[in-house]
Amino acid sequence: AAPIELRDVRKRYPDGTVAVDNLSLRIDAGELVVLIGPSGCGKSTVLRMINRLVEPTAGQILIDGEDVTAADAVRLRRRIGYVIQNVGLFPHQTVHTNVGTVPRLLGWPKQVTRERSDELLDLVGLDPGRYGRRYPHELSGGQRQRVGFARALAADPVVLLMDEPFSAVDPIARTSLQREFLRLQAEVRKTVVLVTHDLDEAVRMGDRIVVLSQGAHLEQFGTPAQLLGE
Ligand code: ADP
Ligand code: ADP
Repeated sequence: AAPIELRDVRKRYPDGTVAVDNLSLRIDAGELVVLIGPSGCGKSTVLRMINRLVEPTAGQILIDGEDVTAADAVRLRRRIGYVIQNVGLFPHQTVHTNVGTVPRLLGWPKQVTRERSDELLDLVGLDPGRYGRRYPHELSGGQRQRVGFARALAADPVVLLMDEPFSAVDPIARTSLQREFLRLQAEVRKTVVLVTHDLDEAVRMGDRIVVLSQGAHLEQFGTPAQLLGE
Protein backbone atom coordinates (compact mmCIF):
# COMPACT_ATOMS: atom_id res chain seq x y z
CA ALA A 1 0.00 0.00 0.00
CA ALA A 2 1.08 3.58 -0.57
CA PRO A 3 2.11 5.40 2.62
CA ILE A 4 -0.53 8.05 1.88
CA GLU A 5 -3.59 7.73 -0.24
CA LEU A 6 -6.58 10.05 -0.55
CA ARG A 7 -9.69 8.74 -2.27
CA ASP A 8 -12.37 11.21 -3.33
CA VAL A 9 -11.84 13.26 -0.21
CA ARG A 10 -14.19 16.14 0.50
CA LYS A 11 -14.35 18.65 3.32
CA ARG A 12 -17.24 20.98 3.82
CA TYR A 13 -16.97 23.05 7.00
CA PRO A 14 -20.12 23.61 9.05
CA ASP A 15 -20.47 27.17 7.68
CA GLY A 16 -20.79 25.74 4.16
CA THR A 17 -17.24 26.42 2.94
CA VAL A 18 -16.10 23.62 0.66
CA ALA A 19 -12.38 23.63 1.42
CA VAL A 20 -11.70 20.37 -0.43
CA ASP A 21 -14.11 19.47 -3.17
CA ASN A 22 -12.98 16.05 -4.37
CA LEU A 23 -9.34 15.14 -4.08
CA SER A 24 -7.61 11.87 -4.89
CA LEU A 25 -3.88 11.51 -4.44
CA ARG A 26 -1.32 8.75 -4.00
CA ILE A 27 2.06 9.48 -2.51
CA ASP A 28 4.93 7.01 -2.78
CA ALA A 29 7.26 5.86 -0.03
CA GLY A 30 10.21 8.14 0.71
CA GLU A 31 9.16 10.96 -1.59
CA LEU A 32 8.79 14.59 -0.65
CA VAL A 33 5.60 15.93 -2.15
CA VAL A 34 4.87 19.64 -2.06
CA LEU A 35 1.31 20.97 -2.00
CA ILE A 36 1.27 24.44 -3.48
CA GLY A 37 -1.53 26.82 -4.29
CA PRO A 38 -3.00 30.19 -3.36
CA SER A 39 -4.01 31.07 0.15
CA GLY A 40 -7.34 29.50 1.07
CA CYS A 41 -7.22 26.77 -1.60
CA GLY A 42 -7.43 24.02 1.02
CA LYS A 43 -3.80 22.97 1.56
CA SER A 44 -3.90 23.04 5.36
CA THR A 45 -7.25 21.31 5.42
CA VAL A 46 -5.76 18.44 3.41
CA LEU A 47 -2.87 18.07 5.88
CA ARG A 48 -5.16 18.34 8.87
CA MET A 49 -7.44 15.65 7.51
CA ILE A 50 -4.47 13.33 7.02
CA ASN A 51 -3.54 14.06 10.61
CA ARG A 52 -7.14 13.66 11.73
CA LEU A 53 -7.32 17.12 13.22
CA VAL A 54 -10.20 17.63 10.77
CA GLU A 55 -12.75 14.97 9.81
CA PRO A 56 -13.41 14.58 6.08
CA THR A 57 -17.04 14.99 5.03
CA ALA A 58 -16.65 12.19 2.50
CA GLY A 59 -14.01 9.93 1.01
CA GLN A 60 -11.18 7.95 2.50
CA ILE A 61 -7.69 8.68 3.75
CA LEU A 62 -5.33 5.73 4.07
CA ILE A 63 -1.95 5.65 5.80
CA ASP A 64 -0.08 2.50 4.83
CA GLY A 65 -3.42 1.11 3.69
CA GLU A 66 -5.17 1.82 6.97
CA ASP A 67 -8.14 4.19 7.09
CA VAL A 68 -7.22 7.03 9.45
CA THR A 69 -10.78 7.31 10.73
CA ALA A 70 -10.52 3.71 11.94
CA ALA A 71 -7.01 4.05 13.38
CA ASP A 72 -6.40 4.42 17.06
CA ALA A 73 -5.37 8.02 17.80
CA VAL A 74 -2.17 7.17 19.66
CA ARG A 75 -1.06 4.79 16.94
CA LEU A 76 -1.77 7.45 14.36
CA ARG A 77 0.33 9.98 16.31
CA ARG A 78 3.20 7.56 16.21
CA ARG A 79 2.93 7.12 12.47
CA ILE A 80 2.55 10.78 11.57
CA GLY A 81 5.01 13.53 12.45
CA TYR A 82 3.63 17.06 12.16
CA VAL A 83 5.51 20.33 11.83
CA ILE A 84 3.78 23.69 11.56
CA GLN A 85 4.78 27.31 11.10
CA ASN A 86 6.20 28.65 14.37
CA VAL A 87 6.62 24.99 15.29
CA GLY A 88 4.08 24.99 18.09
CA LEU A 89 6.66 23.98 20.69
CA PHE A 90 5.31 24.01 24.23
CA PRO A 91 6.81 27.23 25.63
CA HIS A 92 6.92 26.06 29.26
CA GLN A 93 8.78 22.85 28.38
CA THR A 94 12.47 22.32 27.71
CA VAL A 95 13.78 21.19 24.34
CA HIS A 96 14.17 17.61 25.66
CA THR A 97 10.64 17.55 26.98
CA ASN A 98 9.30 18.91 23.72
CA VAL A 99 11.17 16.33 21.66
CA GLY A 100 9.89 13.57 23.97
CA THR A 101 6.21 14.49 23.56
CA VAL A 102 5.16 11.55 21.40
CA PRO A 103 7.45 8.96 23.05
CA ARG A 104 5.93 9.92 26.42
CA LEU A 105 2.46 9.57 24.96
CA LEU A 106 3.49 6.11 23.78
CA GLY A 107 4.76 5.21 27.23
CA TRP A 108 8.42 4.76 26.28
CA PRO A 109 10.72 4.37 29.30
CA LYS A 110 12.21 7.70 30.39
CA GLN A 111 15.77 6.63 29.64
CA VAL A 112 14.89 5.53 26.11
CA THR A 113 13.10 8.82 25.50
CA ARG A 114 16.13 10.76 26.68
CA GLU A 115 18.52 8.82 24.50
CA ARG A 116 16.21 9.28 21.54
CA SER A 117 16.04 13.02 22.23
CA ASP A 118 19.84 13.26 22.30
CA GLU A 119 20.11 11.31 19.08
CA LEU A 120 17.57 13.46 17.28
CA LEU A 121 19.02 16.75 18.45
CA ASP A 122 22.37 15.59 17.08
CA LEU A 123 20.67 14.66 13.84
CA VAL A 124 19.17 18.14 13.41
CA GLY A 125 22.47 19.78 14.30
CA LEU A 126 21.77 20.91 17.86
CA ASP A 127 24.19 19.81 20.57
CA PRO A 128 21.90 18.09 23.12
CA GLY A 129 24.15 19.04 26.04
CA ARG A 130 24.01 22.66 25.09
CA TYR A 131 20.41 23.02 23.96
CA GLY A 132 18.45 20.17 25.57
CA ARG A 133 17.60 22.04 28.75
CA ARG A 134 16.80 25.33 27.13
CA TYR A 135 13.30 26.65 26.71
CA PRO A 136 11.96 27.60 23.28
CA HIS A 137 12.31 31.35 23.92
CA GLU A 138 16.04 30.79 24.49
CA LEU A 139 16.50 29.61 20.89
CA SER A 140 16.58 31.35 17.51
CA GLY A 141 13.70 30.82 15.09
CA GLY A 142 15.77 28.40 13.01
CA GLN A 143 16.81 26.44 16.10
CA ARG A 144 13.20 26.21 17.23
CA GLN A 145 12.25 24.88 13.84
CA ARG A 146 14.95 22.22 14.09
CA VAL A 147 13.57 21.19 17.48
CA GLY A 148 10.22 20.94 15.70
CA PHE A 149 11.76 18.55 13.15
CA ALA A 150 13.33 16.50 15.95
CA ARG A 151 10.02 16.31 17.79
CA ALA A 152 8.18 15.27 14.65
CA LEU A 153 10.69 12.47 14.03
CA ALA A 154 10.89 11.28 17.62
CA ALA A 155 8.82 8.12 17.32
CA ASP A 156 10.13 7.31 13.83
CA PRO A 157 6.87 8.05 11.98
CA VAL A 158 6.01 6.73 8.55
CA VAL A 159 4.89 10.11 7.34
CA LEU A 160 5.97 13.67 7.99
CA LEU A 161 3.46 16.47 7.42
CA MET A 162 4.83 19.98 7.28
CA ASP A 163 2.64 23.08 7.01
CA GLU A 164 4.71 26.12 5.94
CA PRO A 165 7.57 24.98 8.20
CA PHE A 166 10.05 27.57 6.94
CA SER A 167 7.88 30.64 6.63
CA ALA A 168 8.37 31.96 10.17
CA VAL A 169 12.15 31.94 9.74
CA ASP A 170 13.92 34.99 8.30
CA PRO A 171 14.80 34.73 4.59
CA ILE A 172 18.53 34.16 5.08
CA ALA A 173 18.14 31.44 7.70
CA ARG A 174 15.34 29.95 5.61
CA THR A 175 17.53 28.90 2.70
CA SER A 176 20.05 27.14 4.92
CA LEU A 177 17.27 25.51 6.94
CA GLN A 178 15.70 24.21 3.74
CA ARG A 179 19.05 22.80 2.67
CA GLU A 180 19.53 21.21 6.10
CA PHE A 181 16.11 19.69 5.94
CA LEU A 182 16.93 18.09 2.59
CA ARG A 183 20.08 16.65 4.09
CA LEU A 184 18.06 15.32 7.02
CA GLN A 185 15.48 13.87 4.63
CA ALA A 186 18.21 12.13 2.64
CA GLU A 187 19.12 10.34 5.87
CA VAL A 188 15.71 9.55 7.30
CA ARG A 189 13.84 9.07 3.99
CA LYS A 190 10.38 9.80 5.28
CA THR A 191 7.34 10.19 3.13
CA VAL A 192 6.89 13.94 3.41
CA VAL A 193 4.02 16.23 2.53
CA LEU A 194 5.11 19.85 2.61
CA VAL A 195 2.64 22.71 2.26
CA THR A 196 3.90 26.02 0.94
CA HIS A 197 2.82 28.99 -1.15
CA ASP A 198 6.43 29.65 -2.19
CA LEU A 199 7.18 28.36 -5.71
CA ASP A 200 10.97 28.57 -5.26
CA GLU A 201 10.69 26.44 -2.16
CA ALA A 202 8.45 23.95 -3.97
CA VAL A 203 10.91 23.59 -6.85
CA ARG A 204 13.92 23.38 -4.57
CA MET A 205 12.45 20.84 -2.17
CA GLY A 206 9.87 18.74 -3.97
CA ASP A 207 10.42 15.36 -5.60
CA ARG A 208 6.94 15.97 -6.94
CA ILE A 209 4.69 18.99 -6.75
CA VAL A 210 0.91 19.07 -6.47
CA VAL A 211 -0.56 22.33 -7.75
CA LEU A 212 -3.96 23.04 -6.22
CA SER A 213 -6.58 25.66 -6.97
CA GLN A 214 -9.60 26.75 -4.90
CA GLY A 215 -11.39 23.75 -3.37
CA ALA A 216 -8.13 21.77 -3.51
CA HIS A 217 -8.73 20.99 -7.19
CA LEU A 218 -5.71 19.17 -8.52
CA GLU A 219 -4.36 21.22 -11.41
CA GLN A 220 -1.01 19.50 -11.88
CA PHE A 221 1.00 16.73 -10.26
CA GLY A 222 4.55 16.16 -11.43
CA THR A 223 8.25 16.60 -10.88
CA PRO A 224 9.62 20.15 -10.78
CA ALA A 225 11.13 19.58 -14.25
CA GLN A 226 7.76 18.46 -15.63
CA LEU A 227 6.00 21.44 -14.11
CA LEU A 228 8.53 23.91 -15.41
CA GLY A 229 8.12 22.31 -18.82
CA GLU A 230 11.71 21.18 -19.17
P1 ADP B 1 -4.83 27.06 2.72
O1 ADP B 1 -4.08 26.22 3.68
O2 ADP B 1 -4.60 26.67 1.29
O3 ADP B 1 -4.62 28.52 2.93
P2 ADP B 1 -7.17 26.24 4.23
O4 ADP B 1 -7.24 24.78 4.16
O5 ADP B 1 -6.64 26.88 5.45
O6 ADP B 1 -6.40 26.77 2.94
O7 ADP B 1 -8.62 26.83 3.97
C1 ADP B 1 -9.42 26.42 2.85
C2 ADP B 1 -10.77 27.13 2.95
O8 ADP B 1 -11.49 26.64 4.08
C3 ADP B 1 -10.68 28.62 3.12
O9 ADP B 1 -11.75 29.21 2.45
C4 ADP B 1 -10.81 28.81 4.61
O10 ADP B 1 -11.36 30.06 4.91
C5 ADP B 1 -11.77 27.70 4.96
N1 ADP B 1 -11.60 27.21 6.33
C6 ADP B 1 -10.48 26.74 6.90
N2 ADP B 1 -10.72 26.33 8.16
C7 ADP B 1 -12.03 26.54 8.38
C8 ADP B 1 -12.91 26.32 9.49
N3 ADP B 1 -12.47 25.78 10.63
N4 ADP B 1 -14.19 26.67 9.35
C9 ADP B 1 -14.67 27.20 8.21
N5 ADP B 1 -13.90 27.43 7.13
C10 ADP B 1 -12.61 27.10 7.21
P1 ADP C 1 10.42 19.39 32.67
O1 ADP C 1 10.98 20.69 32.17
O2 ADP C 1 9.05 19.09 32.10
O3 ADP C 1 10.49 19.20 34.13
P2 ADP C 1 12.79 18.29 31.64
O4 ADP C 1 12.94 18.39 30.18
O5 ADP C 1 13.51 19.30 32.46
O6 ADP C 1 11.28 18.21 32.06
O7 ADP C 1 13.26 16.84 32.02
C1 ADP C 1 13.40 16.42 33.37
C2 ADP C 1 14.86 16.32 33.70
O8 ADP C 1 15.52 15.41 32.85
C3 ADP C 1 15.58 17.64 33.54
O9 ADP C 1 16.60 17.74 34.48
C4 ADP C 1 16.12 17.53 32.14
O10 ADP C 1 17.19 18.39 31.90
C5 ADP C 1 16.53 16.09 32.12
N1 ADP C 1 16.56 15.54 30.78
C6 ADP C 1 15.53 15.31 29.97
N2 ADP C 1 15.95 14.76 28.83
C7 ADP C 1 17.30 14.64 28.92
C8 ADP C 1 18.33 14.12 28.08
N3 ADP C 1 18.06 13.61 26.87
N4 ADP C 1 19.59 14.17 28.51
C9 ADP C 1 19.86 14.65 29.70
N5 ADP C 1 18.96 15.13 30.57
C10 ADP C 1 17.68 15.13 30.18
